[in-house]
Amino acid sequence: MRIILLGAPGSGKGTQGEKLVAHYGIPKISTGDALRAAVKAGTELGRKAKAVMDAGQLVANEIVIGIVEERLGQDDAKKGFILDGFPRNTAQAETLDAMLVRLGQPGISRAVHLAVADEEIIARLLDRAQKEGRDDDKEDVIRHRINVYNAETHPLLDYYGKQGKVVAVDGIGTMDQIFDRIVATL
Ligand code: ADP
Repeated sequence: MRIILLGAPGSGKGTQGEKLVAHYGIPKISTGDALRAAVKAGTELGRKAKAVMDAGQLVANEIVIGIVEERLGQDDAKKGFILDGFPRNTAQAETLDAMLVRLGQPGISRAVHLAVADEEIIARLLDRAQKEGRDDDKEDVIRHRINVYNAETHPLLDYYGKQGKVVAVDGIGTMDQIFDRIVATL
C-alpha cells in the first residue's frame, strides 16, 4: 500500500496518517515533521527552512525531495508507505513518480483526499495555535498557507485523478469515523 494523504493544512492528515501506520504497519513520511525536526536540531537545513515555514511558504522542492528520497530508499518503506505533506505541487508529484520507478517500486496506490471546508480549516488551525503554539499557526500565516494549498497542492487532485487514483473522504466527523471511511476506500 503506497498512499498519499492530500488535504489542506489542518485537514487531519497527520492524525489519520498515524492511525494508518498502526493499521497497516507501514511507515509514514511527513515532510513537515522532518523539517520541524531539522529546525529543532538547528541544522543548516533547518535554519534555511525555518523562515520559509514561518511565512507559510513552500520550502524549496530540492530540499523536500531529498528528504523523501532518502526515506523511501530505506528498507522499511519497501513494503509500502504513507506520505503526509508530500507531494505539495505538480513538480514534486512528477519527481515522486520518477523516483519510484528509479527505486524499482510500484507507483502510488491511492491519493486520499481529506475534504474539509476552508472555514472549518481556519477554526481548527486557530485552535491548534492556542494548544501547540506552532510558529506558522497565526491567523495571517494560516490564511496564506490555505492560499498556497489551493494554488499549488489542490491541482494534484487533477494530477492523480487522471491516473484514476483519487478517493475523496469527508474529513468532518470523529477521528475514528474518518479513519473507517478512509480504510473503506483502500
Ligand atoms: P500543514 O499541512 O499543517 O501546513 P505541514 O507540517 O505539512 O503542515 O507543513 C508545514 C510547513 O512545512 C509548510 O507550510 C511548508 O513550509 C513546509 N513543507 C512541508 N512539506 C512541504 C513540501 N512537500 N514542500 C514544500 N514545503 C513543505
